[in-house]
Amino acid sequence: MIVKNVVTRFAPSPSGYLHLGHAYSALFAAETAGRGLGRFLLRIEDIDKGRCKPAYEAAIYEDLAWLGLDWEQPVRRQSDHFEVYRQALTQLGYKGLIYHCFCTRKDIAAEFERAGRAPHNIAGPDGPLYPGTCRHMSDDERDFRLGRGDPFALRLNMEKACESAGLLTWQEADIGGHLATPQIFGDVVLARKDTPSSYHLSVTVDDHLQGVTLVTRGEDLRLVTHVHRLLQALLNFKAPDYTFHRMLAGDDGRRYAKRDRSLTLRGLRGAGETPGDIRRRIGI
Ligand code: GLU
Repeated sequence: MIVKNVVTRFAPSPSGYLHLGHAYSALFAAETAGRGLGRFLLRIEDIDKGRCKPAYEAAIYEDLAWLGLDWEQPVRRQSDHFEVYRQALTQLGYKGLIYHCFCTRKDIAAEFERAGRAPHNIAGPDGPLYPGTCRHMSDDERDFRLGRGDPFALRLNMEKACESAGLLTWQEADIGGHLATPQIFGDVVLARKDTPSSYHLSVTVDDHLQGVTLVTRGEDLRLVTHVHRLLQALLNFKAPDYTFHRMLAGDDGRRYAKRDRSLTLRGLRGAGETPGDIRRRIGI
């Protein structure tokens, strides 16, 4: 696929060392941009301050440079932009599309138990859909619980959001249009008391602000596009196009993951492999 003047990005989370799967994803994004004389950006997705570490971020730069990649400066680091995500949440709040949810995992499990096989008790791509317990909480109760300091999540009222956005489609390069069906995820979490943004929100805001025109990512993230397309519409962002690459698996057939220490780029480099060896291993 050659798309002219395309802007792509690689957006790793610094919660571990990069492995062969990341190398494939980064090279895929960079080469897709390169073929169309476009731009390749890097973004550090570190909103989860508990899991992300500066040492892993430093290792990302080192490993990507070793692979031979070159990206534009400045790199966007999500934890530097919580205020921007908060503003996006405020906009959604003005539209009445966000609500406070005080449910713990235990509360949600208990609600499923109580509801038995009720029709709303169905599984979404990320697990059981939120049963909506806090969706219609009174303002008084919400204020009481906030005043008491209870932890909370901010959820998107999916039904209302879909109604407000109307029918939406998104474009997959070389494939065509898909009807957006974000309802499959239910009332997604967009922020939490102690993490003021979520993956869905920050990725959508950043792809817009960075001018990304073609989102390239692994096909394990294909379905989240439905939610991102909805957020783009609600926030009046132009939608980028999407393309998904295959997921690499090791000899045992399992996908590479951060737990596979021996297949980190630095592990392989330490064992004497060259960037060319890495490319041969992953076939790019
Ligand atoms: N940060 C995500 C990850 O490391 C990928 C982000 C994206 O491409 O949307 O899996």
